[in-house]
Amino acid sequence: MSLTMKILIGMLAGVVVGAAINTLDNAFVSDVVVGGFFAMIGTMFVNALKMLVVPLVFFSLVCGVAGIGDIRVLGRVGTKSFGLYIFTTAVAIATAILLALVIGPGQGFEMQGIDASGITAKEAPSVWEVFANIVPTNPIQAFASGEMLQIIFYTIILGVAVVMLGDQSASFVRACEYMNEVMMKIVSIVMAFAPYGVFCLIAKTFAEQGIDLFVPVLAYVGTLVGALFLHLFVTLMILLKLTTGLNPLTFMKKMRSAQIFAFSTASSNATIPVTLQCITERIGVKNSVASFTIPFGATINMDGTAIMQGVATVFLANVYGIELGISGYLMVIAMAVLASIGTAGVPGVGLVMLTMVLNQVGLPIEGIALILGVDRLMDMIRTAVNITGDAVVSTIVAKLEGEFDPAVFGDPNAGIESERDLEIDPAAEERLAGAARPHPRPQPAE
Ligand code: ASP
Repeated sequence: MSLTMKILIGMLAGVVVGAAINTLDNAFVSDVVVGGFFAMIGTMFVNALKMLVVPLVFFSLVCGVAGIGDIRVLGRVGTKSFGLYIFTTAVAIATAILLALVIGPGQGFEMQGIDASGITAKEAPSVWEVFANIVPTNPIQAFASGEMLQIIFYTIILGVAVVMLGDQSASFVRACEYMNEVMMKIVSIVMAFAPYGVFCLIAKTFAEQGIDLFVPVLAYVGTLVGALFLHLFVTLMILLKLTTGLNPLTFMKKMRSAQIFAFSTASSNATIPVTLQCITERIGVKNSVASFTIPFGATINMDGTAIMQGVATVFLANVYGIELGISGYLMVIAMAVLASIGTAGVPGVGLVMLTMVLNQVGLPIEGIALILGVDRLMDMIRTAVNITGDAVVSTIVAKLEGEFDPAVFGDPNAGIESERDLEIDPAAEERLAGAARPHPRPQPAE
């Protein structure tokens, strides 16, 4: 059985077990099994993914810049992916607003017993600040705190300098290639535990999320899920088909493990290692493009999150009976797109962005309390949409730049994780042990 299949089973089992525990209402099970064991395994698993992100982005991006062959291509990849990311996010939120306006969730909503204390608005940073902060003052600090845009900026500058030094850099580039392989191997090791990690994460979420939270805001949830699926299965797939001619079904199939990871962790950032693996080893995007577009997209491209902003704004405008008008909605689109550039892909960040958007158009941010209860599950779905958007744009850019391997895309078994990936060759083990043993010191002559 393939690993993806096992992860899928882990996910479904998590849903069933979690939902069953939720109906049990047993204090011991909730405290010890869910709050203790499931939370522990789930956190360990997400931490293991996160520990890979920064070194993997660094080494793969150095190799990507060095391997691109022509530094000018770098500028083209950057501009095209930036343009496409902004474009897809804007299309996503515009369709979401239109759909929500047609369906009209929140009309006639009764506000009762909503505790809105503790919700505070965050000020949106200005565009100038966002761009200025891309340059790190201290790269070590940027790496330590996982500031993705700063890490990308620094690594690209370093990669360009490495290329400028020419032949002198050969061994450094080889070392980075080797480290990239090592990191990918660790991804395989962590992936081997994914069925259990995913099970615990999903079971914990479903055990904690009662169905009763969904009932009052069913219209919001329905519209949001509809808009997310519309973008995922229709807009993105049409875009992929029209620009690359690739089969959307094959593409979706090959993205499945990354989507499940995004769904279980609700974090585009933590999913970077898996997205990178799917896009390079299964879909055929060369590392020269993927090493840049995937971490870049995890930070600046959030189609699913933007869709949530759109639907939530229409919903709250209806709840409060406030007419936003065309200019209001245009403002929402602009704000959501800008906010997505500066915010990292981590769980729940969409709600923080929503406070900025609501503030901007003058809707009461207390309204967020209405949708807070259902946000975790919505976050999981929108994160899967976010990373699929990153993958679609990466594939388009790779195709446009001739950095795409159709043979990989055409091979259904390409990049499938198997038990063999984790085998250790005993002969190589023996040779390495020999190499690691200290050499006997020459004895001084009598
Ligand atoms: N969790 C999302 C992500 O990581 C962001 C959000 O919508 O809250 O992409």
